[in-house]
Amino acid sequence: MVRLKMKTKDKHIQNLAEIVGGAHSILYQKEDLIAYDCDGFTLHKHLPKAVVFPKDTKEVAKLAKYCSENGLPFLARGAGTGLSGGAIPVNGEVIISLVRMKRLLSVDLENRRAVVEPGFVNLKLTNSISDKGYYYAPDPSSQYCCTIGGNVAENAGGAHCLKYGVTTNHILGLEVVLPNGEIIEIGQNGIPDAPGYDLLGLLTGSEGTLGIVTKITVRILKNPEAKQTVLAYFDHVSDGSQAVSDIISKGIVPAALEMMDKTAIEGVEAAAFPVGHPKDIEALLLIEVDGISAGIEEQINEILEVCKSRNVRQVKVAENEQERARWWANRKTGFGAMGAISPDYLVQDGVIPRSKLPEVLNRINEISNDYQLRIANIFHAGDGNLHPLVLFDARIPGETEKALKAGSACLQACADAGGSITGEHGVGIEKREEMRFIFKDEEIIAQTDIREVFNPHNLLNGGKLFPSPGRCVEIKKEIKAAAGS
Ligand SMILES: Cc1cc2nc3c(=O)[nH]c(=O)nc-3n(C[C@H](O)[C@H](O)[C@H](O)COP(=O)(O)OP(=O)(O)OC[C@H]3O[C@@H](n4cnc5c(N)ncnc54)[C@H](O)[C@@H]3O)c2cc1C
Repeated sequence: MVRLKMKTKDKHIQNLAEIVGGAHSILYQKEDLIAYDCDGFTLHKHLPKAVVFPKDTKEVAKLAKYCSENGLPFLARGAGTGLSGGAIPVNGEVIISLVRMKRLLSVDLENRRAVVEPGFVNLKLTNSISDKGYYYAPDPSSQYCCTIGGNVAENAGGAHCLKYGVTTNHILGLEVVLPNGEIIEIGQNGIPDAPGYDLLGLLTGSEGTLGIVTKITVRILKNPEAKQTVLAYFDHVSDGSQAVSDIISKGIVPAALEMMDKTAIEGVEAAAFPVGHPKDIEALLLIEVDGISAGIEEQINEILEVCKSRNVRQVKVAENEQERARWWANRKTGFGAMGAISPDYLVQDGVIPRSKLPEVLNRINEISNDYQLRIANIFHAGDGNLHPLVLFDARIPGETEKALKAGSACLQACADAGGSITGEHGVGIEKREEMRFIFKDEEIIAQTDIREVFNPHNLLNGGKLFPSPGRCVEIKKEIKAAAGS
């Protein structure tokens, strides 16, 4: 038995420490826990009971079993970059941090797959295999620090997911620790059309509410032979939005098709990676095509033609890799860049049918006027995944609440347009109530019933993803009562 020198008499904390090998693998004092009181959604903060750092699956399983048997709420945490509050310990959870499980376990180029531990950072995978001509496609803008375990939980997307698909399209197998501590393997390592339920699909995007992912087999892709990138400036948002629709309806599927509006451009130009975009344009498009060299030129010409037909003010093709990289750095640091023009900002994440872009962007503009708050838009236009960034100042009394309401109104606009309340950042605690914009109570209950099978006492990441149980539990009772009568 490990001798523990701990400044606490709390039995649970001592027992948890013992599971992970000692006092050096647990945090439990207030000054240490403060760093874990929120994730990238900073508007809610709660202290965890403790943070434990397991080194392998067995320790994760023992921790889950211990928490379940002792009624302790718990949750998994990767890098804590989530933007919907999924890793916030709202019930004073024990946080199981996966950051020590960060190894690249194997690379199998022949079968185009790699196996990683959950704490492995997204970008490190591409960096580890690029010299062999391969890469990992899902590229959230946070990829330099977010973990692949967190990506699986959130079904993360990214700029290049338009052509290649989001995380779920690249996951071939998972090892998962269930809330009771059992370890299961799902996905048969990529054997197509495996019999039985699609548990891989269910677990991917389940926001850490069904189990803790401890090993991930991912698909890796061969680097495209060629790629080219176009930057287009528009005087009117409607022309930019229309160009997006025109490009896709021509049958071109760009690897990426990103848009920024005027306020967003003001932010990125004031931040760390300015590229000299004109300040008076209303919108810009960043478009990338990739594939075999032979077809690229033709696609680029078609894109240039579309932009011209939509009154583009200026359009250019990146002259070299340095220029392309500068344009992408400017785009990918867009969220953080809002800090250069506003003391605080709230990132929203709705998704709409592409054809509704002009209509919904107009509505977001109206919301901005209604709430008297600036809203910047930086988004994956190609797949209709909007990111309205509501700019506010938390020091002004009432402004945070106003920003939350404006954000919610943006999501309502997406739902009204036939879209959804999240494209990639998840629901977490941030959008629980907004789930009602797209699901009826019965549909929410169908989903919480599934959660109950995996997580019967809701101890693993409880209070996330679904609206507060009250109304649903009532409805469930009513349905049962009606069925019995
Ligand atoms: C600047 C910035 C840009 C971003 N850009 C994008 C983007 O382009 N696309 C995008 O999709 N997202 C983006 N995000 C959001 C975020 O980076 C992603 O959601 C990412 O997948 C979270 O990974 P993480 O390791 O930080 O997870 P965390 O924030 O630590 O956790 C997120 C959720 O996953 C659960 N979880 C974590 N690890 C596990 C595990 N091993 N098993 C089970 N559950 C687990 C947690 O309980 C929590 O519910 C961005 C965030 C920031 C701050």
